[in-house]
Amino acid sequence: MKRALICGISGQDGAYLARFLLDKGYLVFGTSRNVASANLDKLDQLGIRARVTLTSATLTDFRSILRALADVNPVEVYNLSGQSSVGLSFDQPVETIESITVSTINVLEAIRFLDRGIRFYNAGSSECFGETGSLAASETTPFQPRSPYGVAKSAAHWIVRNYREAYGVFACSGILFNHESPLRPRQFVTQKIIGGAVAIKQGKLDKLTLGSLEITRDWGWAPEYVDAMWRMLQLDEPEDFVVATGVAHSLSDFIDCAFSAVDLDWRDYVVIDSAAFRPLDITYNCGDAAKAEAVLGWRATLTMPTIVGRMIAARLALDGQ
Ligand code: NDP
Repeated sequence: MKRALICGISGQDGAYLARFLLDKGYLVFGTSRNVASANLDKLDQLGIRARVTLTSATLTDFRSILRALADVNPVEVYNLSGQSSVGLSFDQPVETIESITVSTINVLEAIRFLDRGIRFYNAGSSECFGETGSLAASETTPFQPRSPYGVAKSAAHWIVRNYREAYGVFACSGILFNHESPLRPRQFVTQKIIGGAVAIKQGKLDKLTLGSLEITRDWGWAPEYVDAMWRMLQLDEPEDFVVATGVAHSLSDFIDCAFSAVDLDWRDYVVIDSAAFRPLDITYNCGDAAKAEAVLGWRATLTMPTIVGRMIAARLALDGQ
């Protein structure tokens, strides 16, 4: 059986990727910074907690990742860990940059040191592109990040590419656009909207306070995106790929879908608070995943309205009708 190590297995993508790899017959191992205190609910929700082997590892600590790789002896390593909130990155820039860049270097160095031909997937981000006007970004679009998170993901992207070219490490970055699911952590704006619509419908909340609605995003379905990650590591040669739906929607469209799903008009309930605005944001973000379709045979099948419907249904099931 192939052995895979997922760093950040407790997160949205980590949990879905673990299920995906188990279904493919892999032996799945996962790291969390501290397994004893980690929130492993997502693995429970997918019913796979007992089928994965967990180990504590802090990727900013080289010894920690070296030991995990030496013990697990994986053929594939997926690094999905690190501070993942763009908004929080403005308040915690050092933690964000360290947890993304130092971790990436440490994993790559450990892979080089062990010299066992381990294949590496790096969780890149569309936040690297920054503002692209009304153009969909592809692998050749220049990086112009607009947040500490985007800066960190850009640095990690170039580190991966450097180790690939300088040392021949099999390392790929997936430049993923936003992807959602019922497992998305609740502090993210999409989950605030889903939870807000359901709570208002249930009479538990009067108003939903949000930041800027003047943004457009390319939202995909997380379980589909982990398939693209895996496909990248099955190639003969490592390459980087944009993973996106190619369809952009405004945040107000997202809100409209969520509130309409519970028969409410969002304009009656949503309050804008300028204090919640980010110091700098990206207005338009959309991806061109033509290369992923041509080389990986991967294509997103779900777009925002369906995804919102599924998230609302899952939240209603969880929080009671
Ligand atoms: P999550 O936030 O759901 O999970 C990330 C995991 O990383 C957490 O479960 C946590 O695990 C660990 N983590 C959190 N904060 C830190 C920190 N400060 N230092 C080290 N580890 C931390 O993220 P997703 O699953 O949504 O995303 C996976 C990866 O893909 C991330 O790198 C994210 O930045 C990137 N990405 C995500 C996109 C999306 O739309 N979801 C889009 C593009 C990129 P534990 O507490 O167990 O250690």
